Amino acid sequence: MIEFKNPLVRVRCLECKEEHFIEMKHEGTEKKQRSISFEYEYTYRGELKCSHCGEDMKLLTTIFEYPKGDLNYHETNNESCLVMDEICDDSFNVL
Ligand SMILES: [Zn+2]
Repeated sequence: MIEFKNPLVRVRCLECKEEHFIEMKHEGTEKKQRSISFEYEYTYRGELKCSHCGEDMKLLTTIFEYPKGDLNYHETNNESCLVMDEICDDSFNVL
């Protein structure tokens, strides 16, 4: 299992530039058989309506664990907001 060390991600609303924290929640896990072991794909999603301008800010992070126990790859898509603290390999715990 791979999870955010800190599920609160600091973002800036693209509309009004206000800063907020979006909480990333585990949405699902997919498991696929590959050559060495299973590959796990974790999806985390966070949504927040900007309290200043009402814009819907969204983050979607996908994390791949392969082989088991190794963080292989991750990516974050952002909508209507800018991620202020870079999400890097060190942002995650591999359990
Ligand atoms: Zn805003």
